[in-house]
This record gives sequence, structure tokens and C-alpha cells, in this order.
Amino acid sequence: KLQLWHNGCLAEVARDEALLQGVLMRTKETPNSSELVTYAPFTLFPSPFPKAAFLQALAVQTHYNTLVDRISQDTEFLLQALASTIEVDDFSARLFKIHQQILNEGGSRSIVLGLNRSDYMLDKRGDQPPSLKQIEINTIAASFGGLSSRTPDVHRRVLKMADRLEESQHILDNNPAAGLAKAIAKAWELYGSERAVVMFFVEEVQRNVFDQRCIERELWKRNIPTFRKRFDDICKTIRLDQDKRLFVGGNEIAVVYFRNGYMPQNYFSEQCWEARLTMERSMAVKCPDIVSHLVGTKKVQQVLAKPGVLERFFPDQPQVVEQIRATFTGLYSLDMGPEGDRTIAMALAEPDRFVLKPQREGGGNNIYGSEIIQVLEKVKDSSERMAYILMDKINPAPVQNYLLRRDAPLAVSSCVSELGVFGAYVRQGKDLLMNECVGHLLRTKSSEHSDGGVAAGVAVLDNPLLV
Ligand code: ADP
Ligand code: MG
Repeated sequence: KLQLWHNGCLAEVARDEALLQGVLMRTKETPNSSELVTYAPFTLFPSPFPKAAFLQALAVQTHYNTLVDRISQDTEFLLQALASTIEVDDFSARLFKIHQQILNEGGSRSIVLGLNRSDYMLDKRGDQPPSLKQIEINTIAASFGGLSSRTPDVHRRVLKMADRLEESQHILDNNPAAGLAKAIAKAWELYGSERAVVMFFVEEVQRNVFDQRCIERELWKRNIPTFRKRFDDICKTIRLDQDKRLFVGGNEIAVVYFRNGYMPQNYFSEQCWEARLTMERSMAVKCPDIVSHLVGTKKVQQVLAKPGVLERFFPDQPQVVEQIRATFTGLYSLDMGPEGDRTIAMALAEPDRFVLKPQREGGGNNIYGSEIIQVLEKVKDSSERMAYILMDKINPAPVQNYLLRRDAPLAVSSCVSELGVFGAYVRQGKDLLMNECVGHLLRTKSSEHSDGGVAAGVAVLDNPLLV
């Protein structure tokens, strides 16, 4: 059958449909104003994704939630896992210090709220079917649970116009924001004060505000009040009362939802660190609290991949251990000693097989290829090397697609995708009251780029077309 529309025309309709559906982002020029906005970048077509791997990622999510939650309660494990890292990485050390101070004061957590996103790529080796491998788990500020609910209708429209009606019916519905909000709402109810607010703690630069608004809106539907505050707003007015209830600008805070505070540069003054400490000491529910934030470090991910470690957290559940471990790729320590020396020799011999990762979030921090040699030659004989971990490079098979982004010419690219799965859980004392997989996110980038997410301007939003 003749295709009525060429891709340029489809792209024009796709952009308009994205705007109609609310796949929005503020501009670089005016990141803190909604007077003029643009579409969040996305692919023209949904990308094929194998069904079995997709279902595998959904199925393991509640176990990942449990794992994060159990590690967060294992003080001894976390201390050992991060001991070398905090010796040399100032940011992790600073977070860890807050964690220890909270412990010394007797802890502040009776209600625990976790919203995370576990990210995967498909590793393709020879004739084997592609296998699902975890890139990382984000326990703080995992984004795009809002906008990803709005992209399916865009792709459905494009596929219909491209005379692919049958496939358009296979685009999955997806609404992570609703599930994330459900967990926040549960925590808010447990906190038990109708006037207390859910505080969205946000960055100074707020290009991705619409993604967050989706969650705010779900909360307001439930008549739960929310507001947005930056460090600048908080630092001046944050305080605890004698019962450690948290107040910002005179309002009691039931839940602090962190969409900020995960990068060193977020803390632009000493006051920011004091404000973080105050939030952590308070009886407000923190999402995440400082300990769950630390559980999301790359060092913890590497330690979990060592033989026998998952068994510590699931002593009677070998199938769960198996299910989680199946998603691990090779992860290697650079700690001082023979094991770390072997890692370095291996990386220097075949740098293209690996990714070198510091303890950073937000994209653009990892080291690849010949740069691995440069960095390792510099740090290999000093304890500085303990700030990194080494990971096997995952190699997905590229597919052709068009990346639609503002002012970029329409051109076909060779692309690779990363699947994210959102998890949400709520615990009160010993009772896990909610533990769910609440949706997914597919992000796609040109295979020329080895690193970087949507916010970093590299990846774009996508939908899986299950095959
Ligand atoms: P960040 O916390 O900065 O998001 P990630 O571990 O998610 O750090 O890495 C950033 C990006 O780098 C990922 O989105 C992915 O594109 C790429 N990447 C990370 N680890 C690997 C890996 N092991 N193999 C291939 N690509 C990787
Ligand atoms: Mg990432």
C-alpha cells in the first residue's frame, strides 16, 4: 500500500501532537518561565523492543524495591560497601556523614517512601537473544514518569498515518506518574495531618517542570496539597519544631519529594548542606531519605554483584536472587589491593570492553574507550582510584530512527535504547504497605553517543514496540 505521508510530514504532525498531549519542556533560554515552551525531544517512531526482556524487567522490579529497602536497613553493610568510596569521594562522604549523624541521633524514619527507576539496556552477543542488563538504579529524582504517560498517543498517531495501524494498537498505555503519586499519597496519609504539604524540592533551573507537574496534578486530584521549593526558598525559612516536625515558610511538610540534591553542584552554599541535614533530621517523610539515596550509588551496585552478597538480603529466596542477578553485567572494584589491581590491568588491556564510572548522577560523567587509559594511568597507583567502579560495556544492536528535537534537521540515525522501570514502595515500621511496579520509560539516543540522558540533551523519549 502506498504511504500517504513522507517522514518530514509525519515529523511535523508528531511535533504538534506532542504539544497537544503535553510532552512539554521549558526552553534553554527561559528555563524558569512557561511563557514560551517547546516539546520534549522524542523519536518519530517507537523502537522495537523484545517482549520477553520487557516483561523480565517489569517482573524483577518489586524485588529491586525490596532490595533497596533492605539495604537501607543494613547499617553495617552500607558502611562496609562505601568505606573505600567515602575515603576519596567528597560528595559521597558528605552524604554519608549526614547518614551517620541521623543514626547517632536515633534515626528519623518510621515511614519510608521509595520511588526508584531501574535502567537497562539489551546486550547483544553473537547469535544469542539479547539479554537484559541493568545500567543502574536511581533512588533519587528519577525523572520522566510524567511525560512518558503522554508519548504513547503521539506514536499511535504517527503509526496510523504511516499505515501501520496494527502496530499502533500494540503501543502500551503507561502512567508512572499515577503510581508514583499513589505512593506519595499513601505516605502523606500515614503522616496523618490534613494541612501538611507535599514539598517538591526542585532545582534552580527547572526545564523539566511539566514532568513533575504530572505528579503534582495526581496529588491535587486526591486533594493533597503540594508546593515547589528550591534551596533558595528553603534555606531562609526551614525549621524544626520541638517534635522535629518540618516547617518551610510556616507550612508543615508531610513529605519531601527530592528532584534536587543528587549532584555536588546542587549544593551551592554551606546553607544548602544545613538545609539537607534539617530535612533529614525531621519527621517528614523523605523520598528518598539519605540512606536510600546512598543505596543508589554505583559503588553499592558493584558490591551487590559480588558472589554471595544478594543472598544476604534474600536468604531464603534463591529464585529472587537468581532473578535479580540475571540482570547484572560484570562489575569490578578498583579498591586498593590485588582485586583492584586485576581490574586495572583488565581495563588497560581492553578499554573498549568497559565503562569507568565515578559516583555521579545526571549523565555525562562516565568514561569510555581511550579516555579510560588516560584516567587510569593517572590514578592507578593512588587511593583516588577508589572513587570509581568499572563495568562491562553493554552493546545493544542499533536500530534506525529519527530523533526529533528543537531546531535539529530531520535525519535518520542509528540508535540505541535504554528501558527504565519505575518502582514505588511504602513501609511503616516493619510493614511493607505498598510495593509495586508502576510503569516504564524508553529513552533512545544516537549510538554515536556513549553517555547522557534526556536532560543532558542526548537521549530522547520513546515507546517500546514489543516484538
Ligand atoms: P547516570 O547516573 O549519570 O545516569 P548511568 O550509569 O546511567 O549514569 O550512565 C549514563 C549513561 O551511560 C547511560 O544512560 C547509558 O547510556 C551509558 N552507560 C552507562 N553504563 C553503561 C554500560 N555498562 N554499557 C553501555 N552504556 C552504558
Ligand atoms: Mg542513568
